[in-house]
Amino acid sequence: MDCSVSKALFVYSDTYSGYSLGDTHPMKLIRLKLTHDLARACNLLDGEGVCIADAPSVEGELLRRVHDPEYLKVLEASNDGHSHPAASRFGLGSADCPIIPGIWDFSILSAGASAQCAQGLNGVGASVAFNIAGGLHHALANRASGFCYLNDPAVAIRWLLEHGRRVAYIDIDAHHGDGVQWLFYDTDRVLTISLHETGQFLFPGTGFEHETGRGAGQGYAVNVPLLPYTDDEVFCWAFDEVVPPFIEAFQPDCIVSQLGCDAFRDDPLTDLDLTTNGFCHMVQSMKELASGHWVTLGGGGYRVNTVARAWTLAWGIMLGRDVSDEIPEAFIAEIQRSGVMESFPEFRCVTKLRDQPYRSPEVSHCRSQAERVVDRLLKEVLPQVKSVSSVAPPELPHR
Ligand SMILES: [Zn+2]
Repeated sequence: MDCSVSKALFVYSDTYSGYSLGDTHPMKLIRLKLTHDLARACNLLDGEGVCIADAPSVEGELLRRVHDPEYLKVLEASNDGHSHPAASRFGLGSADCPIIPGIWDFSILSAGASAQCAQGLNGVGASVAFNIAGGLHHALANRASGFCYLNDPAVAIRWLLEHGRRVAYIDIDAHHGDGVQWLFYDTDRVLTISLHETGQFLFPGTGFEHETGRGAGQGYAVNVPLLPYTDDEVFCWAFDEVVPPFIEAFQPDCIVSQLGCDAFRDDPLTDLDLTTNGFCHMVQSMKELASGHWVTLGGGGYRVNTVARAWTLAWGIMLGRDVSDEIPEAFIAEIQRSGVMESFPEFRCVTKLRDQPYRSPEVSHCRSQAERVVDRLLKEVLPQVKSVSSVAPPELPHR
């Protein structure tokens, strides 16, 4: 790739659409191709400052610094789609994390794309790098979980740490970013902030405000659990109250954002009421906070038209371009021709990229919960955050 004059890196692979977690699985990998195609139809994949890079496979050595080698062996052995005797011990073969042909190949591309984004900030001097196939934040060091096999955000963060950066991770997926939180729970070189539907009602059942880090990492895990039916107004209010002051106190060298879009009103798996209006407000805010040192990743999102629209709008914000609200006719014609419209009839009634504003009838109830959490975080956790780390960065392994 030649990105010498580029500012924004979009890492992608045409091969993504060759993988499937199964017809009944909620995570439809076709959403990645649809996002790519919609962004292209909106003329957002060319022009000044845009670089498109092919997702590479992640380096095995980097992967082993995040994941247990035994788990990696079993995941790799599952690539033929057949269950390995030890699979269930590592969370593989469950309804959430099925063993499908090519699962290793897809996972190492997703993680490789996130590593590429991190490297893009250093190597080609990109100010932002987006991996829509990333953000698989539930994978644990030794276990697949919640549709996630490899924790690509942790891979990107680990690479950045080894290159001397302090990293703030901001996660606005409807589900708690548990895997990333636990992997960096003990260090003050990574600040994790997750806003999500409360674990009282939603997988993975964690992410409460009292989870604040451990040892040197005490104060460096921040959780904002929100009630079902929390809408743009309350979600953005909580974001604006919490994220900028924590980033200001921590002074990261770069921000890694997980932009899951399953907190939207029409998502079938969750109960939050976000629209593109609130989503774009938060993406814009993260852009300002990152000031040119920004890795952005996808995440959840189970209505494919919402995912494609939200990430296309997010990419427009990353590029600093105005994006027309009309979904281009060429895109509609293509999804009709290819049969996508038939498989996902939700596209039939969508003509605009942006949602109408929406206000939840539960707004005051949701706001009271958010106020209680925010108050506690600002009073009890924020004062613990320092702008200098007490622990050294992890060293690069000897080669
Ligand atoms: Zn999610």
